[in-house]
Amino acid sequence: MIAQVCINYQDANVDKVFDYLVPTHFENSIEIGKRVYVNFGVSNRIVEGLVVGIKQTTDIEENKLKSVLAVIDKFSIVSKEQIELALSMKNYYALNLGEALSLVIPPFVSSKQIYNICAKKHEENSNMDDDLKKLYESILKKPVSINSKLVKENKEKIIKLFLKGLLEFDLKNFAIKEDSEKNLPLVEPNYNLTEEQNKALNSIISAFDEGGYRNILLFGVTGSGKTEVYIRAIQYAIEKGKSVIFMVPEISLTPQMIENVQSRIGNKVLVYHSKMKSIDRLNSWLAARNKEAVVVIGPRSAVFAPVKNLGLIIVDEEHEPSYKSEKSPRINAVEVAQMRAKINNIPIILGSATPSIEHYFYAQKGRYFLCTLKNRINKNLPEVLIVDMKKEILEGNKSIFSRLLLSEIENNLKKGEQVLLFLNRRGYSPIVICRECGYVFMCKNCSISLTYHKEGYLRCHYCGYKEEYRGVCAKCNSKYVRQYGSGTQKIEEEIKAYFKDARVLRMDSDTTSKKDATEQIVKKFREKEADILIGTQMIAKGLHFPDLTLVGVIDADILLNMPDFRSRERTFQLLTQVAGRSGREKPGRVIIQTFNPEDYSIVFASKHDYESFYAQEIKLRKMMEYPPYSYVVNFIVVASEQNLAKKGIEHVYTILKDFENETDMKVYGPSENPIFKIENQYRYHILVKFKRAGQMISIANLIKERYNYNNASLIIDVNPLDTL
Ligand SMILES: [Zn+2]
Ligand SMILES: [Zn+2]
Repeated sequence: MIAQVCINYQDANVDKVFDYLVPTHFENSIEIGKRVYVNFGVSNRIVEGLVVGIKQTTDIEENKLKSVLAVIDKFSIVSKEQIELALSMKNYYALNLGEALSLVIPPFVSSKQIYNICAKKHEENSNMDDDLKKLYESILKKPVSINSKLVKENKEKIIKLFLKGLLEFDLKNFAIKEDSEKNLPLVEPNYNLTEEQNKALNSIISAFDEGGYRNILLFGVTGSGKTEVYIRAIQYAIEKGKSVIFMVPEISLTPQMIENVQSRIGNKVLVYHSKMKSIDRLNSWLAARNKEAVVVIGPRSAVFAPVKNLGLIIVDEEHEPSYKSEKSPRINAVEVAQMRAKINNIPIILGSATPSIEHYFYAQKGRYFLCTLKNRINKNLPEVLIVDMKKEILEGNKSIFSRLLLSEIENNLKKGEQVLLFLNRRGYSPIVICRECGYVFMCKNCSISLTYHKEGYLRCHYCGYKEEYRGVCAKCNSKYVRQYGSGTQKIEEEIKAYFKDARVLRMDSDTTSKKDATEQIVKKFREKEADILIGTQMIAKGLHFPDLTLVGVIDADILLNMPDFRSRERTFQLLTQVAGRSGREKPGRVIIQTFNPEDYSIVFASKHDYESFYAQEIKLRKMMEYPPYSYVVNFIVVASEQNLAKKGIEHVYTILKDFENETDMKVYGPSENPIFKIENQYRYHILVKFKRAGQMISIANLIKERYNYNNASLIIDVNPLDTL
């Protein structure tokens, strides 16, 4: 038997596995996901490694093959299934093995605090000197913590005992904390499912019963009762003894959804996310690992929850960009959820009111099963009006608010109903410019203009760089400096000037940086302690305010003007989502202000017409050969000096040239990234479109392997959400 062992498995740069012979007396105890001691390198030092595979043969010559010295763990620190998931991610995203493993092994798992060293029963033939025997017997009496003094002082002896097979790591006996509040009697729903909901639920249940990997796209307009379908599917799976992973885009913005699920499913619900205190996270991790038939709710990281007997995965708001990681490793949790469903051979539900173009395309082609919820349960959809801001200016209105929006706000305030104003840009003004010499105030670390904040400073929204605002041009010292454009702070100031008696709240990342601040603002607004809520895309998601009947979109063009092939899809999704906040219980209105009133993403969003939007957008994607008609990889090279980054990308280009004869592959670039510098790193990129997924995977991995220019780092972004 041969074990494939990864040494330094916690190092993101590690990408190799080594074959080791498994001596027969370890054949029963060795397992994928357990740690072992092995000899490593020419000096044969003893190191710890993680078993990531077991096989029967090896290409290494017999006399060069080293043996596993000891199996350290009583239980594997990561399941075989999760190692398999890590290997799938490594392959698909062209990651190093260390990066992929870091996703499935939370830091506390390999940290020493949660392990004890325990002694195994004495075997007659193990001859020990008295010292060693003494140590062994004391551990046999009472297991010791790995970071205890005894262990630290006797390192070598401990290893000796491990090599004799007398010791092992065991999880400390943590009592899993039970949340007593969650043991309240479960709430029964007081209504029956609609016909559409029933149909969707039945499809899910039969997919679950039949087993097998299958994608179910649950396309339901806002307020059509998707959550109820999720809950009943979860209940069904749990009754059958299976666990469920339920992914949501962001925990702090979905408290209502979580409360709802908890009230129905009770203490089977585990919340799991990376922002939890590490003790709580450990608690959820242990519970997920040890309990039967649980449901784990959380954002991106929940996809890695170590549940056993997984029977169903649900991804709510599958189109949300927050599922994609913007930092390395650049995974998309929706794709990873699909990999995990495939490994477990189970169905996955992808839910959305505005499905991603790719997923809807697959549903149209019959690759995914489509369930549709067309009707809003209580009320009709809000009425949406588009205001052409060019016309406003021509007719003499230079304010950021159209006349229609102002009069509607006034009406609402009179009626005592609430207003939500959406602007996807925080701060006061996004641009500060010198009118003497034309200089635009720029971040010194990024090629990004600085945003003026009312508190008297300029800030870069990419790297966080901050400087005092002195109102003097940095180039020519002129005082003739002006701010252009509006952020949420300016909207707040102006709205307060128009409506002096209105109570106004603002929700953006500046007002929600403190713990629980988001929840506080949401609560205040729900309890009608404010009339108007101004905010960025944070306010677009999931929130439910019964008295909110007017939504104003201040500038629908921000996303639309991004130089990116998904900009229309994002615009449509965001407008639909924010519009869906209006009139959830009473008739509502939405006003969209734009300079592009004819753009189809805005027109179809105003008509709540996803299908027509999709029909237009998919034509464009086909013509331009963008996903789903191709697989896109963005190869980005970054370095602290411009010429190094340039050399790096030229190196990538040279490697790509080897695939010149490859058909169905198109190379764009090299060129500067649209945002050329971020945090003092210069950025060049090459965009490659592939016709086939297999081709994309093999070429991306080859480029990763062959890239060896050490002065600039290569980032491989598979299926990027944007190419900025
Ligand atoms: Zn100037
Ligand atoms: Zn910056």
